[in-house]
Amino acid sequence: MIESHHWNEECGVFGIVGHPRAAELTYLGLYALQHRGQEGAGIATFDGQRYHEHKRLGLVSDIFDPGTLGRLEGSSAVGHTRYSTTGSTVLPNVQPLVANLHHQAVALAHNGNIVDARMVRAGLEDGGAIFQTSMDSEVVLHLMARSRHRETERRLADALDRIHGAHSLVLLAGDTLFAAKDPKGIRPLCIGELDKGGWIVASESCALDIVDAGFVRELDPGEIVGLAPGTSPRTVRRAPEGERAACIFEAIYFTRPDSILFGRTTGAARVALGRQLAVEAPAPGADVVISVPDSSNAAAQGYSQESGVPLGHGLIRNHYVGRTFIKPSQGIRDLSARIKYNPVRDVVRDRSVVVVDDSIVRGTTVRKLVAMVRSAGAREVHFRVSSSPIVGPCYYGIDTPDERELIGARNTIDEIEKIVSADTLRYLSIEGMKKAVGNGSGFCTACFDRDYPVPVAERLDKAILEKS
Ligand code: SF4
Repeated sequence: MIESHHWNEECGVFGIVGHPRAAELTYLGLYALQHRGQEGAGIATFDGQRYHEHKRLGLVSDIFDPGTLGRLEGSSAVGHTRYSTTGSTVLPNVQPLVANLHHQAVALAHNGNIVDARMVRAGLEDGGAIFQTSMDSEVVLHLMARSRHRETERRLADALDRIHGAHSLVLLAGDTLFAAKDPKGIRPLCIGELDKGGWIVASESCALDIVDAGFVRELDPGEIVGLAPGTSPRTVRRAPEGERAACIFEAIYFTRPDSILFGRTTGAARVALGRQLAVEAPAPGADVVISVPDSSNAAAQGYSQESGVPLGHGLIRNHYVGRTFIKPSQGIRDLSARIKYNPVRDVVRDRSVVVVDDSIVRGTTVRKLVAMVRSAGAREVHFRVSSSPIVGPCYYGIDTPDERELIGARNTIDEIEKIVSADTLRYLSIEGMKKAVGNGSGFCTACFDRDYPVPVAERLDKAILEKS
């Protein structure tokens, strides 16, 4: 398998009420959110009487066909596309989760990591609860089932008050769709509006565009909203006072560049990151700026605009390399980076080249990219990164390698420059990232500075709820 040189995304959620073809629109929404998780996907619909669901391991386009979508009857639906951050890649761990609570069946889809899920679950199991999955998300349903309140929305608020960490979730309860964000607002979630009174909630606004829904707004941290067909959004709970900590990495890399986050597209935020990088880390005498495609295209554009150094397409990415690609066996030269990227000789030959990337995780791909650009004839290779060195893992819904594998956690920038054999290597400062992405405050930057906004009592890994 080809190793990604980025962190793996988390999950994408989608919910809809008030449309006769809810399953089809959810399918399209999940298709737009596929970059957030490729391990499995599911849709649950409600037809006024009962829920219908279909979920499988694999890609959205492989899981659903006209037949399965046709059987998912109803005008409201919840969908989920998964990359596991807790729980194995097995079918029971694919969402949405459908459960019968007192007087109300519900379907839940969740993005984020509940950092105290193991402790909460242990307490629930001591009280007799039997869990069906090894996902942190299931504790929300068990806590709702135990709430002393009768109304679904109050049960949901009650449950969310008892957990900590990151949760952006959608919960379908009959014809009402609830959307909720954790008090720090770590993961994104937005509301969209359909013609004729329908509503959508999605992890990213690109999932609204694909079904021609209008963007209404992003959910505020800690907010719970109820959406029903033909009525205005109802605030179940307002955003509480408190420090916000939206994941800054969503703007740097995870979110699609056409999605709106923090009030503008992340493509625009990435251009600003590139401009700031050019201010902080110029490369005097450079002839051309190239990106590591595709995620760094906008940052390279910004670097070029600010520095005045022309932009060139110096690396071509093979878009058909998937997670299941089998590496050539040992004995064949290590061509793993070549399988994904190839330099354009005419762009880099005899030139001083600035290569812009959005982040460095292990550093192995960067070393290969620098060597590749050099072997294509570049005179100098200056590597520029539109984020700061990654020094710690994420506990809030991103699948991160062990801290010992993070090149930024073990080495100074000068050491990394030598390891990857760049003529110069520079990163963007944390202050520069905050300034470029937004108003300079209200971000989680924990993987860059180990300042975790929600305390984490124990090292979390995917299998934490599978250990006895
Ligand atoms: S630790 Fe990093 S990836 Fe995780 S939420 Fe914070 S900024 Fe985002």
